[in-house]
Amino acid sequence: MGDRKSFIVGRHADGHEIKLGASIVRVHNGNGYVYAAILRDVSWRIELLDDLSEQARLDPLTGQLNRRSFLEIAANECERANRHGTNLACLFLDIDRFKALNDCFGHSSGDIILRKFAELARNDLRTIDSFCRWGGEEFVALLPQTDLESAILVAERVRRTVEAHTFALPDTRTARLTVSIGVSDATGPGIDISEQIRQADDAMYKAKQQGRNRVIASTGGQPEQIAEPSR
Ligand code: GH3
Ligand code: MG
Ligand code: MG
Repeated sequence: MGDRKSFIVGRHADGHEIKLGASIVRVHNGNGYVYAAILRDVSWRIELLDDLSEQARLDPLTGQLNRRSFLEIAANECERANRHGTNLACLFLDIDRFKALNDCFGHSSGDIILRKFAELARNDLRTIDSFCRWGGEEFVALLPQTDLESAILVAERVRRTVEAHTFALPDTRTARLTVSIGVSDATGPGIDISEQIRQADDAMYKAKQQGRNRVIASTGGQPEQIAEPSR
């Protein structure tokens, strides 16, 4: 019971459930040693620890994984793909001309857009996929057991969802936006997760150069365009 995270579930006199920390003490009562357990209500401490570990994992604005916790998950997924010889795909998403949106609608509307964008993109992924706010208006997704062709279809679905969405802002204003997405894929063993993210980032950069609002797949060093935006 010395572990701060472990607790006993007990019940308070009024009936509600509480988390108890226990200390066992040995005391001499004149005839011999007896043991006594001291129970303390540590519910608040356990809940605080849970909140803090949740906060450490998530990006406060969007509620998605932050870069650090994503990279932890990514390292595990990478190890799994390398062990089983399976595919691991990566999407690098960057909102198009987001600075102009901020300038036009204001920073707090920009925040609303970021939150909704993250929710839309996350909803287009499977539950086993990981999705994080990489930073600013950039997001990264990791798709285990997914080949390049399937990953491109997923990226294209996200691109279309974003393109079709009307973002609701305060004062009945609305905004439309697009996203550029780079896709990379690798098969284990020998996947290096940093290299894979870098390739997806490079492909995203090519998508920007080619006019934005498109999905570009990385073919190692030579990204090629795979999807024309529909207008
Ligand atoms: P591009 O199409 O080339 O990606 O253009 P861009 O304007 O999206 O790219 P740029 O990197 O020039 O600008 C990114 C902008 O994202 C600038 C920055 O103010 C904004 N931004 C980053 N983080 C946040 C945030 O948390 N909230 C808001 N509202 N804006 C943010
Ligand atoms: Mg950017
Ligand atoms: Mg951008």
